[in-house]
Amino acid sequence: MKKLSEGRKMFLSVMVIFAIYAVIFILFEDYDRNFLMPFEETSDWHLLLFSLVVMAGLGVLLHRYSKRMDERINQEQANKETKLRRELTQNIAHELKTPVASILGYTETILDHPDMDSDTQRQFIERTQSQAHRLTTLLQDLSTLNRMDYAADMITIERVDVSRIVGEIIQETALAAGGKHMTIVNYLPQDIIVNGNRSLIYSIFRNLMDNAINYAGEGTTVEVNAHEAHEQWHFTFADNGMGIDDKHLTRIFERFYRVDKGRSRSLGGTGLGLAIVKNAVVLHGGTIKAQSPAGGGLRFEFSLKK
Ligand code: ADP
Repeated sequence: MKKLSEGRKMFLSVMVIFAIYAVIFILFEDYDRNFLMPFEETSDWHLLLFSLVVMAGLGVLLHRYSKRMDERINQEQANKETKLRRELTQNIAHELKTPVASILGYTETILDHPDMDSDTQRQFIERTQSQAHRLTTLLQDLSTLNRMDYAADMITIERVDVSRIVGEIIQETALAAGGKHMTIVNYLPQDIIVNGNRSLIYSIFRNLMDNAINYAGEGTTVEVNAHEAHEQWHFTFADNGMGIDDKHLTRIFERFYRVDKGRSRSLGGTGLGLAIVKNAVVLHGGTIKAQSPAGGGLRFEFSLKK
């Protein structure tokens, strides 16, 4: 069924109220005297006719007003989308510029100096490779977001064992976490099964874990928890590290939003990690929020539909 626009909904609600009013007027006018044929006097019929004409006139006005309101809402929506798309394209171009310029710079230097000593040459090739990796990560992140934006109905849904995925991620990141003397505490019960997309659910936990390792700081602790409620699993993913200022809490889910730009870039961050996390959670019928707990650090609360 076609979804009603806001203007149409308003128009219909007001017309329904008018109709109810008319029915009450007809049925209950002089209720004691005569229930079903209330109007004996001609003036009553004239009054009813007059009310109907006024109602029809108001209806036409409301209809025109609701149409204009719809047009305005659609226009505002279109302007907002164009602005967002323009900002996104600018951000993408900006993010691509640095690695591409570095790759060109390094390769040109190598080609222009054939007598360069092999150690320096190797160093330049390694830097070129690291910038190429950066580009790959950025393109992968963009493609994941694009898939969720424009092809959500084509995403495969299967039974996914979340406990197992989190266990795998903890093993995969153990070296990086150990290098920073971090402790990862996994309180997840066994066999958390949800109907979802394996790779997106992996992305949720992997991005949160990578961020905790990158930003929380030396010697911190990460705790992962979950409980079941109704048709959902509720998760908390918390670290006790440096955390972020309250004013950034809602904005960190925006595409390319970084609290500390220099730090994020130097750590290979694309600024898209938490946008992917949020979109993936929403795609799995859940919600997510970030909080600064009293004891410091950053805590994410999110749900996934079973
Ligand atoms: P990035 O690629 O920059 O990590 P994200 O979208 O994953 O992008 O994160 C957005 C920003 O949120 C990061 O740049 C970082 O400043 C901040 N952030 C994310 N996770 C944490 C954390 N666990 N502790 C402190 N800051 C964090």
